[in-house]
Amino acid sequence: MEKVDILIKGAVVYPLNRKLDIGIVGNKIAVLQNEISKESAGQVIDADGCVVSPGFVDSHMHIDKSLTANEDDTTDLLSAHIRSLKENARVYSGWSKDAIVDEIVERTSKVVEKCIVNGTTAIKTHVLITDDWDMCALDALEILKRKYQHSISIYNIVPCIPAYEREWRMYAEQGKIDFIGAYPNCTTNLFTGLPEYDCNYVPAVDFAFQLAKEYHLPLDIHCDESDSNDISCFRYIIEKTAESNMAGFVTCGHVTGLGARGIDEDDVYDAIANCSKYGVSVTSLTSCNMYLMESGRRGPTRVEQLMDAGVNVSIASDNIRDPFRPFGNGDLLEEALLTAQVHKFGTREKLCKLFRMITYNPAKNTLLDNYGVMPGCTADLVIMKAPDIPEAILSKAKRAYVLKAGKIVAKDGKML
Ligand SMILES: [Zn+2]
Repeated sequence: MEKVDILIKGAVVYPLNRKLDIGIVGNKIAVLQNEISKESAGQVIDADGCVVSPGFVDSHMHIDKSLTANEDDTTDLLSAHIRSLKENARVYSGWSKDAIVDEIVERTSKVVEKCIVNGTTAIKTHVLITDDWDMCALDALEILKRKYQHSISIYNIVPCIPAYEREWRMYAEQGKIDFIGAYPNCTTNLFTGLPEYDCNYVPAVDFAFQLAKEYHLPLDIHCDESDSNDISCFRYIIEKTAESNMAGFVTCGHVTGLGARGIDEDDVYDAIANCSKYGVSVTSLTSCNMYLMESGRRGPTRVEQLMDAGVNVSIASDNIRDPFRPFGNGDLLEEALLTAQVHKFGTREKLCKLFRMITYNPAKNTLLDNYGVMPGCTADLVIMKAPDIPEAILSKAKRAYVLKAGKIVAKDGKML
């Protein structure tokens, strides 16, 4: 038998739900079988009946803003947005670009490390570009990518806003943009400089698809995150995806219009069927949208209905302890547990389906290759102190080991 670098003994492998030994050679899973001899292993991890899954993927974050919450507990989207911008202007006024980059790197490193010890091996994060920050957040993410390259994969999502189009194109040409972001339902009032929602989304969506074609980049769009029961932007993005042959390369985040009251059900059925047919992924930011929902009129999107229609649905952290949401631990089991309660995923079968929304589904919208627990897959793994997936979610199981590309990067909640 070929020698393996790391042997994981007696793990219950998700999604096979069988107790097996996993042999890792280099950065890959080399063998998966009933019994691998300890003699053939460089290092042995005794999983002792604990469940092992591929590393979690947090595919919609805003880590550049994280840990900036203050004591003001505004709980609607527009107020939170205005407060976030005003706080940024106040805090960073007069700072040099280097100082801003250093501060973002230092603050967000704490969140990245939380994600790693909680079993996340890949994140996709939206980048804030404003007059106060210029492109500093993107520069900070470049540094973070390198700093944590052996522990977690970090992908950026960068919107091309008019005042920074020249810079955006420069970064795109240098291959420094992973996904194109957009906020088509939100615009900046030219007189007040403040955000406004429920605007004409068509020009922003068209521009994002034009850039996607020019630079061959995938899209991740904040969509229908508004207080109205209007899903026309969602429908328009689906239409554009079909027209541009971009199935599998477009993700809509939030889509809270689908969770609004008073919406036409035939319209919803039709939109969800087309979302599935034309390969648009949806990311629900359940916890953040629960926090920001306005008087019960708006809330998380329809996770189960989308899932049942065959849409690739994920859940993610969104904002972590910033003006949009003062909670969050970079822990996708916590997000899964909250989603399970909000959407009544109360059976073992439903909890297993939910678990796909923090693993295989976001891996798909992040375009990760070789993802899974099979020979040939990259050895990005998390071993949880629970016998199966439902119990792992219900108990927010401790993460015993986290492996990234075949190396142990965290053990019992601590970075190695
Ligand atoms: Zn978001």
